[in-house]
Amino acid sequence: VTKETYLGVDVSRYSYNELIEQTQEDIKENKKSFIVAINPEKILKAQEDPALLQLLNKATYQIPDGVGVLLASKLNGGAIKERITGIDMFLALCEQASKSEQSVFLYGAKPGVAEKAKETLLAKYPNLNVAGVLDGYEKDEEKVIRTINEAKPDILFVALGSPGQENWIVDNMDRLDVRIFQGVGGSFDVLSG
Ligand code: UDP
Repeated sequence: VTKETYLGVDVSRYSYNELIEQTQEDIKENKKSFIVAINPEKILKAQEDPALLQLLNKATYQIPDGVGVLLASKLNGGAIKERITGIDMFLALCEQASKSEQSVFLYGAKPGVAEKAKETLLAKYPNLNVAGVLDGYEKDEEKVIRTINEAKPDILFVALGSPGQENWIVDNMDRLDVRIFQGVGGSFDVLSG
């Protein structure tokens, strides 16, 4: 068993290293996977919003962001090993990508922010291949899809806020030539500031 469930919401039991291993296998096998960060606020919101509950459970990997999830696991005899924040997972994937010649794409946040986040990432991981960046206010949906598909990234980070970014990923996964999708909320803002 690789997941446990809190109030109907699945949460992955994988550690960072296991998750990185899993995503590497997914890339090798050409499988598409989708990472969502789960915290107690999202679990509570999902109680009143069945569509949100469904959406969160559609992800391949629900990472235990927020100590509340880790605590719930401990109190319930669960097996979640460590807290995995969305931004730390994002950075871990970038580090792995820089070692594996995989490319990443940053989509979302206000104009200029993803570009700055890219500079921060390149300072940390000089070998990282950033296939492209695009702000989250481009209204032409077809242009967004085309831009990402032309860049052909292995990993796509989507920073449109939650649950907008998760809905966007689920709606567009099939037509995107991308292997790993992660919704990263305000992470580009954090890296750019
Ligand atoms: N955002 C965007 N397009 C939109 C709405 C929001 O790119 O149409 C971006 C916004 O600029 C910010 C991020 O999405 O960078 C949302 O960050 P927030 O911290 O609110 O997200 P959370 O982590 O709370 O989901």
